[in-house]
Amino acid sequence: MKRKGKIFAVMVLLCSLLFQLTAWGKTVVAMDCVEEEELIEPAEKIIFPPTDYIPVLMYHHFAIRDMGEGNGVVTTQAELRDQISYLKNAGYEIISLETLNELLQRVEKEKVQNRKKEKDAFSLELDKKYICITMDDGYLSNYELAFPVFQEYRVPASIFVVTDSITNQTGLRKLDWQQAKKMVDSRLVKIYNHTANHVPADMETEDEFLDQVDKGELALHTYLRQDACKALAFPNGHFTIECQEGLKEMGFDLLFTVEQKVITKQTSRYEIPRIAVESGWDGETLMENIERTARKSFVP
Ligand SMILES: [Zn+2]
Repeated sequence: MKRKGKIFAVMVLLCSLLFQLTAWGKTVVAMDCVEEEELIEPAEKIIFPPTDYIPVLMYHHFAIRDMGEGNGVVTTQAELRDQISYLKNAGYEIISLETLNELLQRVEKEKVQNRKKEKDAFSLELDKKYICITMDDGYLSNYELAFPVFQEYRVPASIFVVTDSITNQTGLRKLDWQQAKKMVDSRLVKIYNHTANHVPADMETEDEFLDQVDKGELALHTYLRQDACKALAFPNGHFTIECQEGLKEMGFDLLFTVEQKVITKQTSRYEIPRIAVESGWDGETLMENIERTARKSFVP
């Protein structure tokens, strides 16, 4: 009995040794893998230097059929897909207007604090390459053709709608409020003000214009109840100093024009320029236009 007990004890000891060795072996193999992965990963990651400006793209209507270059501002779904994938491969991070607002408010504060020791009057001194996507007028094609692409790439986008033309469906087919709400609920798209009637600020009195903005704001609140900053795109990009001041008093955070420039440190949040994306542009053409516009924006 004593001998059997000894043999059993030795076997238990051997088994536990064998088990420990195997476990140790596995750990070594696992560690090898980690080291290998760590060795490979940095070489695969491309670091993109940040830009010192932010481009804001402006789209309108989307179509399936190609309109060809030089035929206005209708973008095909295939062009949009190519542009977004090109931007992503070039290291751009597409940001929402909410993030843009935070960034610009921060730059504004820093500008006031460092007024005297300004190094570069134009450079935004960013940590990444940022870009925004906006669409004007609220066409149905924004929902049917562009929204699926934003979902596919998980990128944020913003639509400036003419609220009366959504409620009454006037002109080229617009989104309806259910479609707008569906996009807002996806958390990828936010909907902002392009006034209720799309009459440019310099074609109405200041009071009339601000009334139409107010009406637009009320409709957005009633139908969408989204948690968003207050942003407006001026119809046709036109504005007057009086209207701009009135909108500041109404608490607007961001006002957009159609001036072909990028955002630099010189840009006011109340006069944000945009790049109009034209028909027939693939990703490469879009990039060339962004870079050309940026060069133009840095001339004092
Ligand atoms: Zn418009």
